[in-house]
Amino acid sequence: MMDHLSAAQNEVLQLQTQLLEARQQDLITGLPNRFRLADRTDQAILMAQRQERFVAIIIIDLDRFKGINQTLVFSERDELVHQVARRLVAPLRLGDTLAVVNSDQFAVLLPDLHNPLEPTRVAKNLLEALRIPFRVGKREINLTASLGISLYPEDGTDASTLQKQAESAANRAKLEGGNCVQCNTPTLSEAFLERRELETYLGESIAAENLEVFYQPQFDWSDNLIGVEALLRWHHPILGAVPPSKIIPLAEENHLIHTLGEWVLRTACRQAASWQALSPRPLRLAVNVSAHQVTHPNWVDSVARILRDTKLPPGRLELELTESSLLKNEKLGLSPLHELKGMGIRIGIDDFGTGYSSLSYLHRLPIDTLKIDQSFVRGLHPEPTEHSGHPEPSSNAIIQTILQLGENMNLEVIAEGVETEAQKLALYRLGCEVFQGFLLGRPMTAADLGSVLDAQQASAFEAFLLPRAGGS
Ligand code: C2E
Ligand code: MG
Ligand code: MG
Repeated sequence: MMDHLSAAQNEVLQLQTQLLEARQQDLITGLPNRFRLADRTDQAILMAQRQERFVAIIIIDLDRFKGINQTLVFSERDELVHQVARRLVAPLRLGDTLAVVNSDQFAVLLPDLHNPLEPTRVAKNLLEALRIPFRVGKREINLTASLGISLYPEDGTDASTLQKQAESAANRAKLEGGNCVQCNTPTLSEAFLERRELETYLGESIAAENLEVFYQPQFDWSDNLIGVEALLRWHHPILGAVPPSKIIPLAEENHLIHTLGEWVLRTACRQAASWQALSPRPLRLAVNVSAHQVTHPNWVDSVARILRDTKLPPGRLELELTESSLLKNEKLGLSPLHELKGMGIRIGIDDFGTGYSSLSYLHRLPIDTLKIDQSFVRGLHPEPTEHSGHPEPSSNAIIQTILQLGENMNLEVIAEGVETEAQKLALYRLGCEVFQGFLLGRPMTAADLGSVLDAQQASAFEAFLLPRAGGS
């Protein structure tokens, strides 16, 4: 482009650049520009060398900002950049620097750090600071950013290297889809996902109630909603969605499981109690429980208190324990389960068929429900042949045995992980009458399950009216 500029234009451009460099200031926001940032970074590195501290640069690259910019007039662009700058400066300490690197890129300098993990915390707060939509004129603008972190001394010992490293990390964050943070330093990246961090975040999230309970519907053969299973969800601003398979073992290790389990139970019971009046049939709530909770001396009291507080009838609550965790409890005693059963609460065995419970052990358990493990449902053959010739029993044979067991012991049997009509039909033919799985409904928010309940109520009402209409 420079080739097409006249000599005079070229000169003006050069002068402007020199002026900017001299002022070391961004024209729109008045914040330091990349030159002042570099100066301050070099100073911070000198200090850090003497005092054995860390220095970090965080690049904040606004996602899709150029596209958004094109839809705004000049004054609106300036206003938006001012607002972004105000949000980004809020989580910083005195002595940190927020600078403007480019039209769509900010940078933060964190000098004098004792803890090399501190920048990940700050990055998390910066992402969070952008979460609420911006208002420019009459428009609401949603902004996210890709953040990259570099750290002195691990990633470089001068300002320009640190800046480049942070930029390349931000590019990686952009490639990941944006709205996330990437680091260069392996120790930092590892530490980032390290259990200790996750634990801290989890503890904070429990305290701030930043977790959510989703509900997956359970239906009978005629598609009547008969229950829901409560499933924990945790969306972390940096780590993204952390699955329960990661959260639960971690929470079990550091005893957060008691607070977490109580929170899930209270939230789900409160929700289920409010749904009872809306449901045309008694609606059951299944809540997963970890073996660690069962052995806690206050557990039974805490369940009783939650039912009292939320007014959910005990018969509507089913506590699910996996077969393997029940087997662990065998050694620890089953009296808490008997106490709960005595209160009218139902007990279910989750992932049934994967453990090795003996029949005599099953007989001693105060249980109401067996939940066929998903792996058997996945292995179902729609048209089972009598003799497959295979030495292993087929999933069909295992499911049939579980259903038979259920019938003999007067237990309800639920199939979970039902993903296709063919699986549902095959299960029904084998004698299963309650189904849960993606085919019928994924785990969903309480609000979405409310809509399922509305639809159920409407169809129950229609069914009630139809015979009358026919008779008149
Ligand atoms: P689970 O209790 O056996 O729950 C069923 C899991 O299968 C859920 O995974 C659900 O999202 C998933 N699922 C449901 N239908 C289908 C399907 O059709 N196909 C497939 N592929 N998957 C399906 P999720 O939510 O990731 O939970 C995993 C496990 O974590 C749960 O297995 C449960 O053992 C545990 N968990 C979840 N929430 C809690 C909780 O609040 N407390 C405790 N202690 N454990 C929990
Ligand atoms: Mg379960
Ligand atoms: Mg299961």
